[in-house]
Amino acid sequence: MTNKYLSKLISIILALAVMLSFSVVYAEGNILLTDTSHQYIKIGLAYGSNAVQAVKLESSSGFIQVDCSYDGWGAVRNITDNKELYIVYDDEYGSAVVTDIDVSFRYPITDGQALIAASTSLDSQFITINGKKYRDGVCVTLNSDNSINVINYIEIEHYLWGVMKNEIGDQYPSEALKAFAVTTRSFAYAKLGSHNNYGFDLCMGNDCQMYRGVDSERAVCTAAYKDTIGLVMKYDGKIATGNHYANSGGHTLNSEDAWVSVVPYLRAVEDPYSPEYTWDVSFTYAQIKDKLLAQGISIGDILRVEISSATDYGAVLELKITGTDGETTLSKGKIKSTFSLRSQLFTLSSDIASESSEVETVESGCVYVMGADGVAVKLDTKDLVIYDGNKTVSGSELDWSGFAFKPDADAAPTDTLTFHGKGNGHGVGMSQSGIKVMAEQGFGFEDILKFYFTGITIEQK
Ligand SMILES: [Zn+2]
Repeated sequence: MTNKYLSKLISIILALAVMLSFSVVYAEGNILLTDTSHQYIKIGLAYGSNAVQAVKLESSSGFIQVDCSYDGWGAVRNITDNKELYIVYDDEYGSAVVTDIDVSFRYPITDGQALIAASTSLDSQFITINGKKYRDGVCVTLNSDNSINVINYIEIEHYLWGVMKNEIGDQYPSEALKAFAVTTRSFAYAKLGSHNNYGFDLCMGNDCQMYRGVDSERAVCTAAYKDTIGLVMKYDGKIATGNHYANSGGHTLNSEDAWVSVVPYLRAVEDPYSPEYTWDVSFTYAQIKDKLLAQGISIGDILRVEISSATDYGAVLELKITGTDGETTLSKGKIKSTFSLRSQLFTLSSDIASESSEVETVESGCVYVMGADGVAVKLDTKDLVIYDGNKTVSGSELDWSGFAFKPDADAAPTDTLTFHGKGNGHGVGMSQSGIKVMAEQGFGFEDILKFYFTGITIEQK
C-alpha cells in the first residue's frame, strides 16, 4: 500500500469517525445543536479562595462546546469522542483551554462559552465536575492569578431539582413541596446575577440557595417542580423573593421588624398553622457581661435587662441592658445573634439571688419558704433540705431556736435572666412547619403561598 493510498484511507476513517460522533449526539439524545427553548443559570461551585488550577470533567456521552447565555446555547464544537476532559489555564493562549489527559488538542474556552454533556436525555445529561455529578454543563472564569472559578451552567429547572432537599428536606405533603418549589424558583429568578463579580448568578451557600447537584435530587421534590413548572410569585408585576424559616411561633414578622426594609408582601400575619414551638434559655448576669464583651460592648457588671421596644404581636425590637459603667441597647437580629436565640418572639424573667429563698420561721417546727414570685410554701423543718448553691443542709441538722441558718454569701446563687421564646428562625415569610400543616389540612400550594406572602399573585415567569 502506498503512502498516498494509506493517508487517503486514514482520512476516510477519520471522516467516518466524525460522522459517527455526530450520529451519537443525534441518536442518544435526539438533540439539536442549539437549545434556545430553555432558560439557563450559572451556579458558582468553587471560586475566590476555593478557585482551582484544573477542572476534571467526565461525561458518558462526551461533550459539546457551546456559546451560552441565559436564553440557551449554540454549539461551536462537538467533542463527543472524549468522555474525559480538562480545563486548565494555558499561557500560550492567555486563556483557559479544553484539553485531554495527553494534551493532544487545546481549544480555548472563553467567557460566554461552556462545555455541556453531549446528550440532553434526562437519564444521561450528567457531567461530573471534579468528581461531583451535575446536570448540563460547566463554564469557567479566571481570577487575576489565572486560577479558575468553576461554574455549573445549568437549565434553571434542573438547578432547582438539586435545591429543595437541602433547604427543607423531602418529608412534606406534595402541596407543601409545590409551594416550596414556587418559592425557590422565584428566589432564583429574582437573584440572577448576585455574584456577577465572579461571573455567575448564585452560589451554593446559605445566602443564595443550598444547591448540591444531582446527588441531592429527590423524586418527590423534582415532581413538585414539574407540577409547577415556570410558576413564580409576583408582587406589583415584579418577582417576589420568598423567604422561609423553620417555625413562626404563632406569628410571622414584618420584614422591617426583623431586618431593615419594608417589603410589601412580607407582612406579619397571625399563623394558626405552625405547631407550638417554645424554648427557654437562661444566662447568669456574668455570662451576659461576657456575651456583650464578645461583641465589643463594655458596660461593667450587669444590673438590669429589659425589653425596651416590641411590636404589638410580641416581636422584640430592642433590648436595653444597664450595667455599672453604662447601658446599651441591642436591636432585632443583634439580640438574636448576641444570645444565640432562636427567634425574636420572647419574654424575659429574672431570678435575682438577693430576692430569692427568703426563709423565716413562723412557728416552732415549721418554716415558710418563699420564692422570688412571693409564693410561700409551709414545710415541717425536718422535711426541709436547704441548698445554698454549694452545700446541702437538712432541716433536722439545724438549730431552729432563734433561726441560726444563714446562706453562705460567697456561694449564693447568682442572678440569672431567662428568655422564654416561641418559634424558630427569622420569622419573615413562610413557616416550613406551617406549610406542612396547611397541606395536611387540604390547602393547595397557591393558597399556602398567598397566606404567608401578602398580596402576591402566582403566574408564569
Ligand atoms: Zn450566594
